[in-house]
Amino acid sequence: MDGSGIPGAGMVSVATDVRAVVASVVDPEIPVLTIEDLGILRDVAETQDGVTVTITPTYSGCPAMRQIEADIAAALRRAGFSDFEIIVQQSPAWTTDWMGEEARRKLAEFGIAPPTDEVVCPRCQADHPRLVARFGSTACKALMVCSSCGEPFDHFKQY
Ligand SMILES: [Zn+2]
Repeated sequence: MDGSGIPGAGMVSVATDVRAVVASVVDPEIPVLTIEDLGILRDVAETQDGVTVTITPTYSGCPAMRQIEADIAAALRRAGFSDFEIIVQQSPAWTTDWMGEEARRKLAEFGIAPPTDEVVCPRCQADHPRLVARFGSTACKALMVCSSCGEPFDHFKQY
């Protein structure tokens, strides 16, 4: 998926463990999803100066990004990397399309309806839930109530 092992991919080859260290950092709000699952992690490169990590926020001004940067730094330090730089790349803008099938499945299991136009209740799969609040527990989620089982749940909004 990251092009490693593909000849001529044009990327600095990165020891798998560096990438794995960074890729295992989880979203502070959705601990079942890693930043790789979410598509936030764009690149991990090793240069003479150290490790460069490029991330793209889920949406501009997402308050979780500061925490994610701190968590990446902590994970790298724990793994013995002291020279690193974390670049926050705003463009191209993150979209929910960068969230893979695996991430969507984990999200639903966690009780959050994954980003889609046709939201279903993560508990009973009923469609046409009622929108309660456009901004739920965080700005990137809407609060909905299932019209079948009556359970409230978060919907990760589509961007
Ligand atoms: Zn339901």
